[in-house]
Amino acid sequence: MRRTGRHFLQIPGPTNTPERVLRAMAQPTIDHRSADFADLGHAVLSGVKRVFQTSGPVVIFPASGSGAWEASLVNTLSPGDRVLGFDIGEFAKNWMEVARRLGLDVEVMAGDWRHGVDPDALEARLRDDRDPRIRALLVVHNETSTGVTSRLPEIRRAIDRAGHPALLLVDAVSSLASIDLRHDEWGLDVTLAGSQKGLMLPPGLSFNAISNKAVAASRTACLPRSYFGWEPMLASNATGFFPYTPATNLLFGLRESIAMLEEEGLSNVFARHRRHAEATRAAVSAWGLEIACQREDEFSPVVTTVMLPGHDADAFRAAVLERFNLSLGAGLGRFKSQAFRIGHLGDFNDLMLMGTLCGVEMGLEIASVPYKAGGVDAAMTSLCAATVVKA
Ligand SMILES: *Cc1c(COP(=O)(O)O)cnc(C)c1O
Repeated sequence: MRRTGRHFLQIPGPTNTPERVLRAMAQPTIDHRSADFADLGHAVLSGVKRVFQTSGPVVIFPASGSGAWEASLVNTLSPGDRVLGFDIGEFAKNWMEVARRLGLDVEVMAGDWRHGVDPDALEARLRDDRDPRIRALLVVHNETSTGVTSRLPEIRRAIDRAGHPALLLVDAVSSLASIDLRHDEWGLDVTLAGSQKGLMLPPGLSFNAISNKAVAASRTACLPRSYFGWEPMLASNATGFFPYTPATNLLFGLRESIAMLEEEGLSNVFARHRRHAEATRAAVSAWGLEIACQREDEFSPVVTTVMLPGHDADAFRAAVLERFNLSLGAGLGRFKSQAFRIGHLGDFNDLMLMGTLCGVEMGLEIASVPYKAGGVDAAMTSLCAATVVKA
């Protein structure tokens, strides 16, 4: 049946693609060996560095975020190497599974999915690893299943205090261009991301930002790699080209999305996400519901995971989609059917948030979930009280 009006795509990625990006992509595909292409290549390869806040190389693969997971591992590690992962959510779990399938020895630190990576526990574990066996840490910056953002600067300091040489690999798929992330300043070795979240593009591009230490590791790493190898990529990228046919039209879109982020200003983009998250939490708390994240300094600016104990969260989401044409994120893994997720990232504004929260509040009503009215009012109060900096 035809649904009138605009669909509300409020899953935490893919996010809403702005029309400016869609128009930028709606061009004839050009020859990827032409001089025109090199201009595009140079523009996106240098522009994306500013988004990762790095002066080092960022490589771009035609792949989903999962490709960037694989690339981060195969370029830096060798068969049987030990890596340390953290059971903090579904994406962390899936990345560890990729590592296992590639033949790495994955050690898991336990977690409750209500907290991020614990810097103190990490420091203690690394201090214990005297004759260092752990080669890399797999840290998901913003765990999209739980709405918990790990404290990367504190994690970096914990590693330094322990004096441990492990590479710090960071999944920033749902944080890049939405939450402050400083690849260089925070001493990250590989920061990986995808196109379909904060970058406001359709799915299909993935990224690895690479430190000098990671480049050095790649010279001796011997996991098999071909498509995801950094070396041919870095060599071609130096002249603005790619070793194989890139996703040219997505790169047109990327050039536009970087321009949009810079027109707004990255710090304003981050502040906007924090403002929307805060208003969302005000609504959830007024409804008398609980969010998954337990620590204020780990609240996610991009996604809020709302617990619905005793109710079928999938039936709730289905009712909301059917009645209001609003897609909410499903509970994943441990939270399957027990939680739903509100994505508030990407190309988003106050009224889109209010429409989303109205849909949730009306959904609680029609799905007969016990709640207190007033969440939408609380969010309006929060938004009105917030300071908004003009770009
Ligand atoms: C979306 C997401 C991914 C996965 O990406 P795909 O593009 O589906 O392969 C990985 N990690 C995190 C944290 C994500 O949010």
